Amino acid sequence: MSTTYYAAAIIGCRIERSKLFCTEQKRGCGHDLPQPWATSEAKFCDQCGNQLWIGLQTAIPEYDQGKGTVCGFRLIDNHWDDYVYVVGEISTTNTDGALTTKLTPDLIHIQDCFELELSGTDLWDEDEFGIWPFLWYS
Ligand SMILES: [Zn+2]
Repeated sequence: MSTTYYAAAIIGCRIERSKLFCTEQKRGCGHDLPQPWATSEAKFCDQCGNQLWIGLQTAIPEYDQGKGTVCGFRLIDNHWDDYVYVVGEISTTNTDGALTTKLTPDLIHIQDCFELELSGTDLWDEDEFGIWPFLWYS
């Protein structure tokens, strides 16, 4: 079994992975909260011992984990750094030097598309749009 390394150039937007998720606080059991709740520092239910609140991490609505897309754009994630990349165009090569696609950069058009789709979210940051190097292996 061998490892194949890839390199890519991505025209797109770099986003902190943490922005793809939000934490929702849900009750840890069905018992009533200790009263008065506002001044209580209790973290566990005095009746069953479960945590009173559990933080559940869920994907933001713009992120489709099943399809691997954000606002319909392909998402690339190497899972070892803090960023993911929303792809407008990508050109990749492996250790054999085989180039899968050539970039036909029309940065203004791609940026306009990204801004149109992402600007209503917390994901758009003009300073994070550009050409990004990306490495991964399989
Ligand atoms: Zn309880």
